[in-house]
Amino acid sequence: MSVKYSRGSAASQGISCCKVCAQLNNAGDNNCQRCGEKIYLRTPQSIQKTLALLLASIVFYIPANMYPIMKTSVLGDTNESTIFSGIWLFLDSGAYFVAAVIFIASIVIPLTKMLAIAWLCQSVISSKPIMHQQLTKLHAITEFIGKWSMVDVFVVAILVALIQIGNLMVITPGLAAISFSIVVILTMLSAQCFDSRLLWDKAERK
Ligand SMILES: [Zn+2]
Repeated sequence: MSVKYSRGSAASQGISCCKVCAQLNNAGDNNCQRCGEKIYLRTPQSIQKTLALLLASIVFYIPANMYPIMKTSVLGDTNESTIFSGIWLFLDSGAYFVAAVIFIASIVIPLTKMLAIAWLCQSVISSKPIMHQQLTKLHAITEFIGKWSMVDVFVVAILVALIQIGNLMVITPGLAAISFSIVVILTMLSAQCFDSRLLWDKAERK
């Protein structure tokens, strides 16, 4: 395959990059020459898919905060705690570090990520000039930090696995744990669906 290199985007030169192995292919090719993955100049319906997944994640974030994330039964006495009441509980008992970790993982990261994705989509859709470089970095950071929201789900999973002292103390995950996992997965998929090259297409059109 012969590919000519010059200034401008790869797409404008008839070159497309494989998202899996980063091999450069001719834009007309349907599959990557190296790994066989389907290749596109731009992810088809990138913004629509990103926004649909983002909206779904916002919907699931409501039960994730309303319903209990964990049920603790001590000698038959059952207590249910939501994400917020869990944070208060740890603050009350002086475990500030754990409270901070849960607050950052379950409130700050998911909300920041949702706002970042919405901002990225809005930047592509709007006709106003945008900061391409900063937004590309924002997308990379959004993709990177997303998985750390799972810390909260892991904390519950570890507690459930560790603390099963017969019938004396039993910890079970609540409905919010499932909703929260779905939120994390949906926001991760949403960030993946966003094609950051759309930001640079806009720069080229100027
Ligand atoms: Zn490939």
